[in-house]
Amino acid sequence: MKIIVEHAEALIAMDAGRQVIADGAVAIDNDRIVAVGPTAEVRRACPWEFDRAIDARSKLVMPGLIDAHLHVSEQLSRGLFPDDLNTNQWVFNWAKPFYGTVDAEEEYVGALLACAEMIKSGTTTFLDVGVYNDIAGSAQAVKESGIRAVLGRHAADRVPKRLPPNWTPEIVAKHYFSSADDALAALEEAHHRWHGKADGRINVWVNIEGKTPCSPELHAGATKLAAKLGVGASYHISSSIEEARTTEQEHGVWPVTLLDKYGALGPNLLLAHVVAIKDEEVALLAQHGVKVAFCPGTSLKLAKGATKIGRYPEMLEAGITMGLGCDGVSAAGSLDLLRQVHLVAGLFKDARMDPAAVPAERALAMATIDGARCLLLDDQIGSLEPGKKADIVLMDLNRLDWVPRHNVVQTLVYCATGDSVHTVIIDGRVVLENHVLTTLKEGEIIENGMRLAARAARRSGLI
Ligand SMILES: [Zn+2]
Repeated sequence: MKIIVEHAEALIAMDAGRQVIADGAVAIDNDRIVAVGPTAEVRRACPWEFDRAIDARSKLVMPGLIDAHLHVSEQLSRGLFPDDLNTNQWVFNWAKPFYGTVDAEEEYVGALLACAEMIKSGTTTFLDVGVYNDIAGSAQAVKESGIRAVLGRHAADRVPKRLPPNWTPEIVAKHYFSSADDALAALEEAHHRWHGKADGRINVWVNIEGKTPCSPELHAGATKLAAKLGVGASYHISSSIEEARTTEQEHGVWPVTLLDKYGALGPNLLLAHVVAIKDEEVALLAQHGVKVAFCPGTSLKLAKGATKIGRYPEMLEAGITMGLGCDGVSAAGSLDLLRQVHLVAGLFKDARMDPAAVPAERALAMATIDGARCLLLDDQIGSLEPGKKADIVLMDLNRLDWVPRHNVVQTLVYCATGDSVHTVIIDGRVVLENHVLTTLKEGEIIENGMRLAARAARRSGLI
């Protein structure tokens, strides 16, 4: 199908030149972008009959947003956990018991809810760190919704010496493989089964939980297996100061230094959080081309200290590629990635008392082209350029929060929310039109989500 999106009031390309084009257009042939530029030029370059012309007057056209760290298994826990927990309490006493309870049907419906929420707020690609049941559930949700994703199967291999009191044998069984080799074999099997499916929209990585629930062999093995399979690996590391101190007690060094000792650092590794980090470890990440997924909303809610101990501006300064993650509905709260863009543009200006820290355009890059780099998909997505996949968002500018708009990038970052998202195209297919999902029945998903969330919460023993 040939589609043209034309007469956009503004088109943010996020290409190397960071073009913002007035009266902009994008021409699409099947799943690919074939031309981008002013409408008159694109029409001249593509003189053929289009199957569909989308009038983008009073619209902003931009690349689809990319969420670099998410847990779809968390979706049915929204509002279930208290909001006075630190990372350790949150993970071990609440999140793990919930994740370990969620069954295949609940995980699938949670993934559908997540996909719907993301598409409606402009996210066209996300990375899921790993589901707790068969990966078929999250893959099916991706297939049905039309979104693009990097998926994984949860893996860990080191059961805590003292189990939290509310853990059942089922929770332990769902979280831990008996060895690093068993875990890696399961991840490789999931990769072979689902990678490249849904017309290539599904990528399956070697994701593990990371941190203390994973052995050195599993950390290092994940990076190596990912390299063998030609994909990436992603996991949490240095997600709190408590974790860094535990690692120091056990190994004498902080987590990133330990990863380096294992030989686990490399350009196919995407680390999430990385809040507790020393300056020399920032240099290590830069040297090895490791990417970072920063989740500002989680830092705020779980009191991680992103602005107090975090070295995020230093990582950017060192040339480390950084993306943004919504993390999850309980860890942070919302899957509207623009909220994270707003946070990252403001947090460090305030904390460092430096108004030049993380400019608006840089924050937007983290949710688009740099997010694509984090997911090793920057040759495919992240900007509007000929040859790339047609993952495109149209935002409605006829809204109070867009009036006036002397600078559209600033207005997008500081004033708008995902509510402005009007139309979404993924892989050349219109999946949201006039705020309505074309691929999913929203009412039905909400009803199922409410019913299954109550069931999962009851079974988890957390209420
Ligand atoms: Zn996470």
